[in-house]
Amino acid sequence: MPIRTLQTWFARKGSAATEVAVSKKKDRSQLRVGIPKVLNIWTTHQFWVGFLRDLGVESENIIFSSDTSEEQGREFGKGRGTVDCCYPVKAMSGHYGELIFGQKKKINILLSPMIHSLPSVLHGHVVDTVTCTRVMAGPENIKSGFLKERDIFAENNVIHASPFVSLGDRHMVTDQLYISLKDAFDLDKEETARAVKAGFAALDDLTERARKQGRDILTWCAKNQKPCILVLARPYHMDIGIGHEIEADIQAYGYPILWLQYLPADMDLMNWLFEADLRDGLIKSPFDISDVWASSYSSNTNEIMWGAKVATRCPWIACVLRLSSYECGMDQPTYTPAQKIVEATGTLYFKFGDLDSTKPSGGIKIRVETIAHYLGKYSQEIIQRKLSYLSPNCPLGELPSSSSTVATGETEPAVVNVV
Ligand code: SF4
Repeated sequence: MPIRTLQTWFARKGSAATEVAVSKKKDRSQLRVGIPKVLNIWTTHQFWVGFLRDLGVESENIIFSSDTSEEQGREFGKGRGTVDCCYPVKAMSGHYGELIFGQKKKINILLSPMIHSLPSVLHGHVVDTVTCTRVMAGPENIKSGFLKERDIFAENNVIHASPFVSLGDRHMVTDQLYISLKDAFDLDKEETARAVKAGFAALDDLTERARKQGRDILTWCAKNQKPCILVLARPYHMDIGIGHEIEADIQAYGYPILWLQYLPADMDLMNWLFEADLRDGLIKSPFDISDVWASSYSSNTNEIMWGAKVATRCPWIACVLRLSSYECGMDQPTYTPAQKIVEATGTLYFKFGDLDSTKPSGGIKIRVETIAHYLGKYSQEIIQRKLSYLSPNCPLGELPSSSSTVATGETEPAVVNVV
């Protein structure tokens, strides 16, 4: 049975870092807030959980919609489509409908942020970390499908709140959320600032733990000289209705999976991987992508290019799995450069492009078998070749000699989940 990757991240219970003082001033314990689990919510959900909990919204009253599915779209989004060719955006109609019509206990607010920029490990090393314009405008676009005949929100006593928010520029967030949410949540400035702080603490905590788990996986791979797979994709390809669980099918063959968004980014590891480029002055920092991607405005695109650079250098990332949605205008210019970067060291590269609502199960099964075959045949050669390009001072610990690379008896890290 495929192991679902990351499925527990939307658990409503806050992490220890989110257990901060809840506002005593206003009682929001009965307020029910629905959040469509779409687009960049996939990597920012803990900000919203931390923010709302700090405002006094109870955990059980923060409701995320289900994973995307054709049934969800048919049951809740039918007839509410708007003009957008991207399935990840189109699918939002079903999420909206599920939150409005599909709850036993009605929600009061549908919170669907227009996220303008994203926190990124590359912040400060790239031109900007803005989101795709279709992603950013998605909430307003999809809202119109629920207004075209009559106001469905008003009919159901639901407030549609879509704050424009620059999560990549933290100093702007309090003002942005205060201005756009003060009426819906009856906010004052001080409690907004406190809630924003709690939101970022929760988000940073999860990101740090997930990256730490990524490092643990790489450490295990290094110790046992075993390969793993890096998924190069946008955050919403973690949604099983958008990314179709392709990485889970490969994980079932015993290969640990790393997601780009949670690659370990510790300086010791990065400096080791990029040592030669830094020494030769090709880049200023391991997070500098100006050598391969000059117009580095788009956050997720930048990270895809950076991930390709890490993958081609990191010995145990023997294979890259590239996922992309149908006619993604943001991804198209990256296909060739990302593939060339990854393959420059002989790292395996497999692309599943043009993903849409339907899971092409037969085709995926055959390709997954092919990937497993190539990994079985070539991964040791790939690991040793890439190790030969690097200094022997691996920060992941002492490496076994190449002649003793057969299994040590330890089992692979089974699930890449962080709770
Ligand atoms: S990043 Fe690509 S798939 Fe996603 S919304 Fe933008 S154009 Fe569409």
